[in-house]
Amino acid sequence: MQIKLYNSLNKSVDEFKPIHGNEVRMYSCGPTVYNYAHIGNMRAFLFADLLQRTLRVVGEHDVKWVMNITNIDDKTIRDSQKGSDAWLSDMGEQTNNPIENLLMLTKFYENSFVDDINKLGIDSSHFFSMPKATEYIPQMQELIRAIVEKGIGYVSEGSVYFDVNEWRKRDIYGKLFKIDFDNFRAGVRIDSDQYEREQASDFVLWKAKKDGEPYWDFDINGENCPGRPGWHIECSAMEYELLGLPFDIHTGGVDLKFPHHEDEIAQSKAGYGIEPTAFWCHNEFLEVEGEKMSKSLGNFFTLRDLMEKGVDPIDIRFAMFSAHYASKFNFTFDGISAARKARFRIQEYIYELLNRNISAQDIKSELIEKLCDSVFAELANDLHTPKALAALFSFMNNNNAKNLDEKDVIPMLNFLKQMNDIFAAWSFEPKEEIVEEIPEEVNALAEARWNAKQSKNWAEADVLRQKISDLGYTVKDKKDGYDLIKN
Ligand code: AMP
Ligand code: ZN
Repeated sequence: MQIKLYNSLNKSVDEFKPIHGNEVRMYSCGPTVYNYAHIGNMRAFLFADLLQRTLRVVGEHDVKWVMNITNIDDKTIRDSQKGSDAWLSDMGEQTNNPIENLLMLTKFYENSFVDDINKLGIDSSHFFSMPKATEYIPQMQELIRAIVEKGIGYVSEGSVYFDVNEWRKRDIYGKLFKIDFDNFRAGVRIDSDQYEREQASDFVLWKAKKDGEPYWDFDINGENCPGRPGWHIECSAMEYELLGLPFDIHTGGVDLKFPHHEDEIAQSKAGYGIEPTAFWCHNEFLEVEGEKMSKSLGNFFTLRDLMEKGVDPIDIRFAMFSAHYASKFNFTFDGISAARKARFRIQEYIYELLNRNISAQDIKSELIEKLCDSVFAELANDLHTPKALAALFSFMNNNNAKNLDEKDVIPMLNFLKQMNDIFAAWSFEPKEEIVEEIPEEVNALAEARWNAKQSKNWAEADVLRQKISDLGYTVKDKKDGYDLIKN
């Protein structure tokens, strides 16, 4: 089915067509591994997962999915110098080698990240690669050299900057986000990885070595400028190396439009002569109980925080898919319970279909084909998961699993399996029959009722029947005995 996606570059929902035959090459900005990812970050990764799965299942594309691991940036470097109990106890002693410390800290949080996303139903085998910045330093340096050679970057006190004013003479700066150039601070340099739109200025490509910080040698303009890459150049170099330019889709949270993605576009076009991609897809933010998540408000959750509170990660996944990715998502515990209920309604429907014990057959079902078309059409239309789920629930309301025509049962199960290839929220193993022990008290009452009946004490037998019923059981008399059935 033809997929349509909202493209932040054109600000419209556009038809998506891969550049290389049926293969979709997709790059997602991954986590900055200096701490456990929070559930806001998880929304960005679940959105990317939803997109790549929809491309596979609904679009019938092959997907080459790359998600980077940002292990060099201001925060990973800051925290690798501090040392913290979590990563030190697990990864070893802090050393005198700043690169080793950086690798220890970031490996610890990379491991916990992979653990978390697997719990959330993101399948590691779907990644073509999860590159780490530390492994692509030569490629980053090559790109920086290309930008400088073209006169769009310059060296200043051992750092290298992107000359925004020079670039504006050659192309647009501000493709994703409008920048107010009336107040543009020409020639001003900004060193931090993250900054506001109002601070737009020459951004850093390579940062000169600072005392105690990790650094790599860098030969540029015939001199050695030891230092480390800026955050934006990392993604530009890794996506070029792993996917080639242009690739098909770039994802990230809305906050990355500026400066990260805007700077990526400028760097790649300046250095390689090609923009990274024609499709930029961004997820909206997650809030908690209607407020921005923050440590000071006490509403800041990591996946492990929520699991400690008894939340099942798959309910988080399903809850996030119950909202459209481009709307703000309000995380609440009530919302998680509602999502769990909805998820289990579908799960029960699957169990009931499995219970019908109908063996596979090669019959087409018009009814299920129609359902599949309507659900997939919603997913193909900019990943409209809430509408897709609504179409499924409406079908389930009108077509009880127990009464579904025999010829529709296997097609329905097959369709639900396809949906599960996207939602990853259900099991297709038969429900384990839970053999519940009948409580002693109920057995004793039933026995007493049987005896009352034998002695024709009908009033007593009726009172006992009521007591059994109050305890949630029904007595069904047989010829010479009775059965107890749970209500
Ligand atoms: P970071 O680890 O900070 O680089 O962020 C990883 C991803 O999480 C990026 O794509 C961000 O845009 C995204 N992100 C951060 N906070 C939120 C939030 N509250 N809701 C949704 N996405 C977020
Ligand atoms: Zn990135």
